Formats: sequence, structure tokens, C-alpha cells
Amino acid sequence: MLLSPNALLVKEYASLGQPFVYAVPCTPLKSEPRLIQFNEELAEQIGLQVDDLCTNQGIAILTGQQTWPGYDSIASIYCGHQFGVFVPQLGDGRAIVITEIRKGADYKQLQLKGAGPTPFSRRADGRAVLRSSIREFVASEALHALGIPTTRALSLTATPDPVFRETTEMAAVVCRVSESFLRFGHVEYFSHTNQHQELLQLLDWHIERHHSELYADDFENNPAPTLINWLKWLTQATAKLMAQWQSVGFCHGVMNTDNMSLMGLTIDYGPYGFLDKFDVDHICNHSDTHGRYSYRNQPRIGHWNLYVLASALMPLLHNDRETLQTILDEYPQQFQREHNALFAAKMGLNKQVSEEKQNEFIEYTLQMLHEHKLDMTRFFRSLSALQAPHADHSNLDKQFALWQKSSTFPWVLGDESQVESARAWLGQWMVIADNNLIGEKLNQINPIAIARNHLLQEAIAACEKGDDHVLKRLLQAVCKPYLEQPDLMDLYQAAPEWAQHLEISCSS
Ligand code: AMP
Ligand code: MG
Repeated sequence: MLLSPNALLVKEYASLGQPFVYAVPCTPLKSEPRLIQFNEELAEQIGLQVDDLCTNQGIAILTGQQTWPGYDSIASIYCGHQFGVFVPQLGDGRAIVITEIRKGADYKQLQLKGAGPTPFSRRADGRAVLRSSIREFVASEALHALGIPTTRALSLTATPDPVFRETTEMAAVVCRVSESFLRFGHVEYFSHTNQHQELLQLLDWHIERHHSELYADDFENNPAPTLINWLKWLTQATAKLMAQWQSVGFCHGVMNTDNMSLMGLTIDYGPYGFLDKFDVDHICNHSDTHGRYSYRNQPRIGHWNLYVLASALMPLLHNDRETLQTILDEYPQQFQREHNALFAAKMGLNKQVSEEKQNEFIEYTLQMLHEHKLDMTRFFRSLSALQAPHADHSNLDKQFALWQKSSTFPWVLGDESQVESARAWLGQWMVIADNNLIGEKLNQINPIAIARNHLLQEAIAACEKGDDHVLKRLLQAVCKPYLEQPDLMDLYQAAPEWAQHLEISCSS
């Protein structure tokens, strides 16, 4: 019994059939799998029986050695723009949906990443290495804990089977969970292959299931109003997602249209990175030589990707370019509004102050962080040490002293230019902050724990040697990102010097 009594195995996506989904068996790895992580909380939430999934049979299913009883696994076809270039056919090259579960209104798919090749693997091996699987597991759960929409990670299994990348690495499989794994690239594929009826069928299915409030009953005869409302929703959702990423310093690294979710989720974690030192030009993906997906560029790329999506929808909307343009034109403002609201909250800015003044202060703060390359997470976290500022400048020395006592104080004392900038900023913040929104309350908004690259690297190195303890500690920290846990203080420190030279690339 893999499912709890209130959950049902369903085939809602599978029953779409070809050309949307293709029956694809997983290919068993040769060695016995080892369960490294299992997300009990998520399992229970979606209607799985934890005890039965953590048996040998359960682990075999979560690694692709055995099939989910009663379900024929499937993979889907899509295409996309990779680094701005149209690639006519991609697809689930190493992702296979192994079951679908419905628990009341809640619907989820379970998908294995790395369980063998599919018809869409394009000569690649369909596998994932332990290194990148750990990175995907941690980031999914870290973003979720930060309240940022994302696919989730249920389990991480590994075997000693060799996988060949730049070096020989260990194979691993992540079982991820989402209400949908559809991407912008799915829409592009059916549009660019002139399968417009099929595209309508897919969107009919998708929108009715996930956005019943946007779905008009006469979709079949007149799909335009529903499609337009849905594009408006997705534009807003993507703008918000980009703002949320910026607010925690998250860089995705490969924002190709095939890695953009139709549900506005973060999806396909590869060479991502959280900012350590704040640098708007930071490029987390070593393969991204021109910085197309740098921290600064991500929101703009989100907009560009929406253009690609809207172009693919054109044939279903009588080529009504003007309506689509109007929707997309909203994006920059939607993004800016979300962005500024998030940063205003991070600093407890006074809502009585004009928006213009607040925005100026946010811009000034970010410029200062960039100029001094301060640790972004530690800077915002340290603000909770400041108390009752009032617009009283005699208070400045007292506040500065309090700030220095914070365990996350980000400035280098003794560096005159830093101290001067810190004090100047503090003076301005004291005027614009709202007493009711600061202090301890800020610790519910500014995380202390993020999945820093060097911490991931340490967890990976230990897991590769069979020691999962380092990974468990890291997950303990990032899954409770707002809580300072005394036994995890070492995980809240700024990145050490060696971490500045870590190179994370697409190869995974
Ligand atoms: P990504 O840049 O990781 O999103 O991958 C782009 C495309 O390449 C997707 O269609 C993936 O399914 C496919 N792909 C990446 N790595 C592999 C692999 N090891 N085996 C098969 N397909 C892969
Ligand atoms: Mg991908």
C-alpha cells in the first residue's frame, strides 16, 4: 500500500496520450540503490504511506528499478529557446513521470530525474549524477521553505553505478513532485510544429485543471478569453517569481524557455546559486559566458521568455498581436511593484512614506551592497538587531553599536570607507524605517540560512564518501531558514575565500 486511504492513483495526465505523453519505462541501475534523503512531511501531505515507501520495494520504485503498481510511466515532448536560440526538439530526456496522485482537490505528479533514457534524450544517457541531484534536492526544499513557488523533492537515492561527465561520477535519482511539470517549451513545441488543435487540447486540459477560475465553459468554441486571462495570470506570476528570486539572491542559471514553468514555479535546478557577496553582475553558471542569466538580467529574461510564449500562442488568438503586447507591457511594472514591496518589507520601511522615496532608498541600499560587495543574506538578517530608530540622529552611535553586536553584522570594521558608508546608510534608514515593522519581526522576513555553494559542495563531498550527515545538517538549516539554530551557527557564516572560485556548470 503506497498510498494512504484518502489518496487515489489517477491517470489524468497519462490519459492525454500521444502526442503529449509517451509510455517510457525507467531503466534500472545495476547496483543496489541507497536512500539518502526522504521527505516524510511532503510524503504525508500528498497522500503517500511513508512506512511502505521506505522499504526495499519503495526505494526500488523511487530509483526506477521497479514500476509503480498500476501505472505505466511516461515522458513528454517539448522544445525551447536555449540561451536565446530556438531548438526545435527537446523533451523529458531524463525525467519520467512514475505516478499521479489525487487527494481531494490536491493533484500531484511524481517524476524521477535520472532514471534512464527516453525517446527525447538526444544521445545523452538519461542519467543524473549525485552532485547535481543533491543540489536539486536542497534547492527545491530551500526555496519552498522561503515561500517561493517551486517543484518539490520527495526522495534522493544513489547507486555506485558510474556516470560519465568531465570525470566519472555516481548515479543518483531525485523523485520530484509537482502539480505540473509543463513548461513554456510545451506550448512552443505544438505551436511551431503547427499542431494547433493539439495545443488547444493541451491548454484546455491544463487551464481547466489548474485555473478553473480563469476557465470559460465555452472554451471549445471560443478559447480566446480563457487564453488571454491565463496569459495575464502567468505574466503576473512570473513577474512575482522573479522578484522573489531577487529578494533572496537566487540565480537560476539556465532560464531557457524549456526551464520556465507554466505554473510560475521554479523548475529544473542545475547550476543555480544564491548570492554570497551582493554583485548585480553575478553569473552563477560557468557555461553562461556572456552573463545572459546574471542576477541583474534574470527579471528581463523572464519578460523575454514571456514574449516567446505569447508568440507561440498567437495562432490560437487570430494573431491578435496588440492584445498580447498589452498584457506583456504590464510585466516591468508588475515586477518592479513586487520587487519593491519585498525589499521594503525586508527593511521594515514605513508605509506612510511615499512610494517614490521608498524606491529611492531601496535603490540606494542595493547600490551600496553592490559597491561594498556585502554578504546579502547577512546584511538583511543583521537589521533585526536595530531597535527603535526614531528620526533622532543622536541615536546613531547607539544604533551602530547595537548593529555591531549582531551575529550577522556584514561590514568590515576598521575599513574606513565601509564604516562611513554603513553609518550614512544607517542614518537614512533610521528616518525611513517603521518602528512597528522592525526588530525581531524582520527575522520572519530575512532568512539566516541559504543554500550557499560552498555548503552544498561540502555536503556533496561527504555524500560521495557515504557520509550523509553534512547534507542532513544543511537541510536542517535551509528548511527552517528564518530560525537561528544554535548548533548550526557555522552554516550561517559568509562564504570562505575558496568558495569564490567554485565553478558550477551545466554538466550534470
Ligand atoms: P537542461 O539544460 O538541464 O534543462 O536540459 C536541456 C535538455 O537536455 C532537456 O530536454 C533535458 O531533458 C536534456 N538533458 C539534459 N541532460 C540529459 C541527460 N543526461 N540525458 C538525457 N537528456 C538530458
Ligand atoms: Mg531542463
